[in-house]
Amino acid sequence: MATSSAPDAGAKLAEKAEVRDYFNSTGFERWKRIYSDSDDVNKVQRNIRLGHQKTVDQVLQWLQEEGDLPGRSFCDAGCGVGSLSLPLAQLGAGSIAASDLSEAMVEEARRRLEASGLAAERVQFSASDLESLQGRYDTVVCLDVFIHYPQAAAEEMVRHLGGLAERRLIVSFAPYTPLLALLKSIGQLFPGPSKTTRAYTLREDGIVAAAAEAGFRPRRRSLNQAPFYFSRLIEFERG
Ligand code: SAH
Repeated sequence: MATSSAPDAGAKLAEKAEVRDYFNSTGFERWKRIYSDSDDVNKVQRNIRLGHQKTVDQVLQWLQEEGDLPGRSFCDAGCGVGSLSLPLAQLGAGSIAASDLSEAMVEEARRRLEASGLAAERVQFSASDLESLQGRYDTVVCLDVFIHYPQAAAEEMVRHLGGLAERRLIVSFAPYTPLLALLKSIGQLFPGPSKTTRAYTLREDGIVAAAAEAGFRPRRRSLNQAPFYFSRLIEFERG
């Protein structure tokens, strides 16, 4: 007979496989356009692009304020098409290990790196789920990935990523608020299931508690929004 944790583990694997399949197929087609300057997007997608760009810009600003980019190592977990890693490399970051569950997203990121004219070794792109990542980095960043996972799974990811970070952990997620819950229930905020995987909003106190278990406390926060996009960004530091 299965142990009590086995069905849970099975459900988690199934959920992850679903996310991977999505980002290797329809999700890839959708998101590579959203995360680009292509005109081939609808109004909703254009707004998501704008909102997401605010998140990326905020992170780049924080990292630049902190300074010494060439001296630091970065891990970009769930890097997508490289929307953060490519500009970070452009700014002179020392080393960047960027990975994503979806081979298609990683391939597109590599293509963009090549097209950017940056030296190929400036960003190491690889296909990997973030739970399998190992090593130590000055700063670990994970943007807009947790929206695909329920609270407990996201918290586990935060703890794991915290274990890889020497100094700093930066994550973003769609925060649970009663207003968002209402919008979601009437289908206003997140596009329907035909267009995306399930979208989960997460409780911030749970994310903060998970980071604390890994030895991190919040340092800076911002809320980045546009119509159809709502993302809480938190920078954690050790201590
Ligand atoms: N962080 C990027 C991409 C966000 S889109 C950015 O902000 O531009 C979400 C990405 O998370 C997708 O590319 C998806 O393939 C990836 N992803 C989802 N679950 C993941 C997991 N368990 N491990 C690693 N990547 C994951």
